[in-house]
Amino acid sequence: MIQVSYLYGIGKGKILKVLKSGTHDLSKLGNTHEHNDSVVSQCVSFTASCYGQPGETDMTSLRYKVWTNKMGNQKLNSAPKLRVLPPTKAAFEQHVHRAHLQTAIWRSALDADPPDLDPVKFGWSRNTNVNKLEPIALDADVSPAPESVLKMIKCGCSSTSPCSTSRCSCCTARISCSAFCACHGDNDCKNPQTISGVMDEDDGDDADTGAIGEGGDSDA
Ligand SMILES: [Zn+2]
Ligand SMILES: [Zn+2]
Ligand SMILES: [Zn+2]
Repeated sequence: MIQVSYLYGIGKGKILKVLKSGTHDLSKLGNTHEHNDSVVSQCVSFTASCYGQPGETDMTSLRYKVWTNKMGNQKLNSAPKLRVLPPTKAAFEQHVHRAHLQTAIWRSALDADPPDLDPVKFGWSRNTNVNKLEPIALDADVSPAPESVLKMIKCGCSSTSPCSTSRCSCCTARISCSAFCACHGDNDCKNPQTISGVMDEDDGDDADTGAIGEGGDSDA
């Protein structure tokens, strides 16, 4: 079975509550006769309600509203974690394509002649080296952040013990390394800011997050 990802902090309870409210439905999801754009719009409206912003029809503006609301509830010295935000528009569309495919498969479970759907057209890419399907986080032509931001915040440390000297631009600027750095901000990174950032992530404020299926990929 193909897995789809879930939205961080939005659990089954929330999803069911919005469904039961009757104000939104997901009738187009899994209906292969529907145009992709209208499936995505229906999912945006539904997701906006799950994030407490009914009536919102644009992912970018939803993300901004959730961010400003969270900021209003935070102490000034801590910013909300990025994962509590809805996905970006580009990432969300890929999620919807995968959910659409999975739902189409379920909807046709009892059909003698189910539609022959190619996962590659629904948010997956085929890795022929390992003979596996991999979720597309972002389209190849979509940058994870504006070019100017990427230039500002990344370092190029790529030794076996990266970011351990003052030549690391992130260390010098006293900011955490991130996925944009050559070190990817992962466990090998010796930037002390990165290490404290990683530990801070694990404070277990996680709600029931098994909303749509098991986690197959992460939010971008
Ligand atoms: Zn570095
Ligand atoms: Zn860095
Ligand atoms: Zn680093």
